[in-house]
Amino acid sequence: MKKRDFIKISGLVAGALITGCKGSPGDRASGLVMGAGKSGGVMKLSYKPYELQLRHVFTVAASSRTTTPVVLTTIEYDGIKGFGEASMPPYLGESHESVLSFLSKVDLEQFHDPFMREDILAYIEGIMPGNHAAKASLDIALHDLTGKLLGQPWFRLWGLDPQKAPVTSFTIGIDTAEVVKEKTLEASPYKLLKIKMGRDNDREMIDTVRSVTDVPVFVDVNQGWKDRNYALEMANYLSERGALFIEQPMPKEQIDDIAWLTENSPLPIIADEALQTVDDLLLMKGVYSGINIKLMKCGGMDAAYKMITMARQMGMKILIGCMTETSCAVSAAAQLSPLVDWADLDGNLLISNDIYEGMTVVDGKITLPDRPGIGIIEKKSGNL
Ligand code: MG
Repeated sequence: MKKRDFIKISGLVAGALITGCKGSPGDRASGLVMGAGKSGGVMKLSYKPYELQLRHVFTVAASSRTTTPVVLTTIEYDGIKGFGEASMPPYLGESHESVLSFLSKVDLEQFHDPFMREDILAYIEGIMPGNHAAKASLDIALHDLTGKLLGQPWFRLWGLDPQKAPVTSFTIGIDTAEVVKEKTLEASPYKLLKIKMGRDNDREMIDTVRSVTDVPVFVDVNQGWKDRNYALEMANYLSERGALFIEQPMPKEQIDDIAWLTENSPLPIIADEALQTVDDLLLMKGVYSGINIKLMKCGGMDAAYKMITMARQMGMKILIGCMTETSCAVSAAAQLSPLVDWADLDGNLLISNDIYEGMTVVDGKITLPDRPGIGIIEKKSGNL
């Protein structure tokens, strides 16, 4: 949208808010906010469970799996649909049952203005503690909806330059040398690789990857190292092989060991399992060099934006990550990616039954579509 048009529309929006008038379908088609006043429409929430099929068996330090349960949400307002998603990897404790149960308690019809995001999210937060993925599915749908009502993508509403979106990593799971070599070669379009570690073949994993590529890598141990001296030995080994940082090397409970490792390691040490929401952030100071923010852990885009702001003030590095997710939640996280140091947003690339198109990866770099909201479209209509 041209700046002049945006100013014109902003003025009309202000007018609509003052008078509380509802717009015609023609006005909506131009991207104008209508029905956003006090006497506006009703927000209708719908949702359905869905099972993501992984392209490959996904193995990390503690487990393997071939599917991930998700719940797809839609908030419809004044004929416009905002899409959201909850993804529930088993280790975070949420499930189809828990998310559906949480969503059944949500009454959005009491709100008549989707732009009252602070009030709506405070209400959702107050329903029950925890349930971060369920809450994220609502936060994402609300962002998608309001962005669409404004006719703008969220990166623009936040004032971010899409050219500053980083490259995204592609994940290489723990496997035999033969399979790792094959997967690394397949990952040649990517300019950053994330190597899973924490079983009994750590050196083999990095050596195998390095036998076929020189691209930058980082390592995710998923709490797999128990001994701090071994962790430091590996940090040095990885540093000599061009790794950029190490994610969650040791169990999150071993706080003193991790703080010692962070102090002595040549590579930054990034918290993942150790933190979920903004409430955990202050505890990371002096223990880790940075944090991995995921929408499914922190509760959505609003919480992630606030965490990024706060973590920057604390001098921490920021990685934005994801679970295995459709292009819905991945594209929502991608809207924030111009603000972070590194991105690990490959969750949609690891599944074979994505139902959305959104953020793409071009020459390894996150490319944000110039579509409003979180920038996604349905691959086939009528999925909800
Ligand atoms: Mg991780």
